[in-house]
Amino acid sequence: MNAEIIAIGSELLLGQISNTNAQFLSKQLANYGVNVYYHNVVGDNANRLKETISQAEKRSNLIIFTGGLGPTKDDLTKETIASVIGRPLVTDDEALNRIEAYFKRRHRTMTENNRKQALIIEGSTVLANDHGMAPGMAFTEKNNHYLLLPGPPKEMEPMFINYGLPFILSQLEETTQITSRVLNFFDIGESQLETELLDLIETQTNPTIAPLAKDGEVTLRLTVKHDNIQVGNSLLDEIEEKILKRVGKFFYGYDDTSLIDETLALLQERNITVASAESYTGGSFCASLTEKAGVSSVYKGSIICYSNDVKRSVLQVPSEVFEKYGAVSSECAKLLAENVRRLLDTDVGISFTGVAGPGQIEEKEVGTVYIAVSTRGRDTKTYPLKLAGTREQIQSRSAKHGLYCLLK
Ligand code: ATP
Ligand code: MG
Repeated sequence: MNAEIIAIGSELLLGQISNTNAQFLSKQLANYGVNVYYHNVVGDNANRLKETISQAEKRSNLIIFTGGLGPTKDDLTKETIASVIGRPLVTDDEALNRIEAYFKRRHRTMTENNRKQALIIEGSTVLANDHGMAPGMAFTEKNNHYLLLPGPPKEMEPMFINYGLPFILSQLEETTQITSRVLNFFDIGESQLETELLDLIETQTNPTIAPLAKDGEVTLRLTVKHDNIQVGNSLLDEIEEKILKRVGKFFYGYDDTSLIDETLALLQERNITVASAESYTGGSFCASLTEKAGVSSVYKGSIICYSNDVKRSVLQVPSEVFEKYGAVSSECAKLLAENVRRLLDTDVGISFTGVAGPGQIEEKEVGTVYIAVSTRGRDTKTYPLKLAGTREQIQSRSAKHGLYCLLK
């Protein structure tokens, strides 16, 4: 299979951004033995794009487009492709529902040109956009395969890995089946994970290993081509074992699971109850757990002790702890966890005290965080962490760290 990539956007030609999408896609395709023979960059101009498509159709059987799927006037990728191949644009109900839901979640009103984003080339497979609105598309016309992806790398990369690649692989050899397995990791960065596994990622051709960062977590998608599911699974088992030997400490679950799902399952299975005391997280931990229905059997509640007064009066942290160590300290975290466990009468108490920023507290830097876990009949564990990011990111990452501390 010979491929070429057409990146669309005048900002690429003006030198305002680099064509990292082509770089990413070429790297990925090389892993699967798909030859990429041309990279094209075209501005937001229908005629020049038409010319480029006509040329590409003659020499490549896989053409991947990135950019220009958005709602504005200069976004003309799908309209132009549709006119070149002679298919109409039609509204895709599911894409429209997703776009409407996207606006609803953000309490924004949807404009008419957002509706345009639900238009797809007739007969194409819609590739869901899990990180934005514009859906991608895949279709085959006269032995040529077309893949349309959005411009922003944050949207394009996961769409390609999760939906575009399976489409391409399914076209490679018809007798071959494709099976994927996703490994989820926490508390390790994408680049560190990649470094630990570099030789495997680079040399492994079947299965292939594709790392992807998402919301402070990293996933590895293992994809195997096979003609027998048992053979496929045992190849996946083999590579998984090699991976977990190196980074198993950060692994927490398979496929569509989440830290919340895994933590709740563990608590429910062992019948363990939890309460939390939250300072700088302001209830984020409680909010993330209570997003799930049915948590009341294991989660009793949170005491939000944002001020030191509440830490002192409600959570009974003695004044001398503040004087000696400060509120942002492992000593304070430890007492908060132990006392909330006692006050709310649970098996486990977890606490969060730290600096979410933007300003420092007690001369401690933004991102200095202490999480403590007190378990009935055991020594309290404290986890001193240094987190990066904005105030919101530090709060939401802390909530995830809290779940991870309970899990491990
Ligand atoms: P949107 O819905 O955000 O408008 P789109 O599919 O229409 O998405 P574009 O408008 O073409 O995409 O590009 C949006 C942004 O995505 C660009 O401003 C740029 O930051 C990034 N981007 C686009 N193309 C590329 C590329 N080839 N490489 C890297 N980044 C890109
Ligand atoms: Mg756009």
